[in-house]
Amino acid sequence: MTAAISTKPPLTVRLCAPRGFCAGVDRAIQIVELALEKFGRPVYVRHEIVHNRYVVDGLKAKGAVFVEELSEIPADHHDRPVIFSAHGVPKSVPADAQTRQMFYLDATCPLVSKVHKEAEIHHKREREIVLIGHNGHPEVIGTMGQLPEGTVSLIETEEDARSFEPKTGRPLAFLTQTTLSVDDTAGIVAVLKERFPEIVAPHKEDICYATTNRQEAVKAVAPLVEAMIVVGAPNSSNSQRLREVAERAGCRISHLVQRASEIDWAAFEGVTSLGLSAGASAPETLVEEIIDAFSQRFEVTVETVRTADETISFNLPRELREPAPAAATPAE
Ligand code: SF4
Repeated sequence: MTAAISTKPPLTVRLCAPRGFCAGVDRAIQIVELALEKFGRPVYVRHEIVHNRYVVDGLKAKGAVFVEELSEIPADHHDRPVIFSAHGVPKSVPADAQTRQMFYLDATCPLVSKVHKEAEIHHKREREIVLIGHNGHPEVIGTMGQLPEGTVSLIETEEDARSFEPKTGRPLAFLTQTTLSVDDTAGIVAVLKERFPEIVAPHKEDICYATTNRQEAVKAVAPLVEAMIVVGAPNSSNSQRLREVAERAGCRISHLVQRASEIDWAAFEGVTSLGLSAGASAPETLVEEIIDAFSQRFEVTVETVRTADETISFNLPRELREPAPAAATPAE
C-alpha cells in the first residue's frame, strides 16, 4: 500500500499571540449575555457592542436589539435594560437615559473610562486638552463628550500636531485613543513635545495593553512571512492598525478580512508562509475558520509566535454580579 501524497502546496501559518479578544471586549460581550440571562429579552444595546458583525449577529440571535440612539427605543420598552458599548459614550448619553428613566448598564472598557477620568482631571486643573485619535470613531466621540463642546482639540496626524495652535494660553495636556498605532502616536507625541516641552503627558500610556501587545506580535511575525491576514472589521480601529503594522514591517501582502469568504485567493497564490492575527474584537472561531479555508487549498502547518502573556480581566458591573430579584439574598 502506498501512502497518499498531498498535491496541495505547503504553507506555514504563523499565528500571532496574543491576538483576538481583549479583556474589555470579553467583558462587554459578557455584559450583554448576562443581561439577557438576568432580565430576559429584549435587551437594547446602543451602537455595536464591539466592532464585529459575527459577535453582533450572535447577540441579536439571543435577543439583543442594537440601536444607534436611545430615541430609537420604543417608549413602552424604557423599562428594558440598555447597554452602552465598549467604546464609551459622551456624558450626554447616560444623562439622556436618566431623563427617559431608562435602566442602563455601561459596558465601556475600564481602560477607556480611565482616559475619560484623565480628561476630567486635566479640565479641573484648567489645562487645555489635546486628544490624539481618529475623527468620528465612537471612542473619540465619547472621550470628547466628557467635557463641554470645544474644550478638547483633536489631532490625527503629525501634520496636525505641527499646525496645532493652542486656544487658551493655559498649560497643555494630551490624551490618546486606546487603539492607535504605537509608532504613529510616538511620532505625533514627539512633535507635540518638541513644540510644547511643558505639555502634560498621561501617567501611563493611554494606548491599551491589548493594542500594544497585538501590534508587537504582528511586528515579530511580519518579517518571517510573505503575507499577513488580520481578522477584523473595517470599522475596528485596532484591527486596521494591525494590518498597517504588518505592511510597514515588510509584508508585501497584508489583508484585513472579516470572514474566510472575503479572502482574495489570487493574492495568496504561491505564498509559502502566512502570518495570522486578529483584532481585539474578533473571536477565535473566525481565526479557525481562516485556517480551515487555507487547509482546503494548502498543506498547512501551524506555528504560534508568542510575544506576551495576558492575564488581565475586568469586573462586571455590580447590577450583574448581584442575584436576580426573585432569588434575592440579604445584602452583604
Ligand atoms: S482594545 Fe483595549 S481599550 Fe479597547 S476594549 Fe480592548 S482592552 Fe479595552
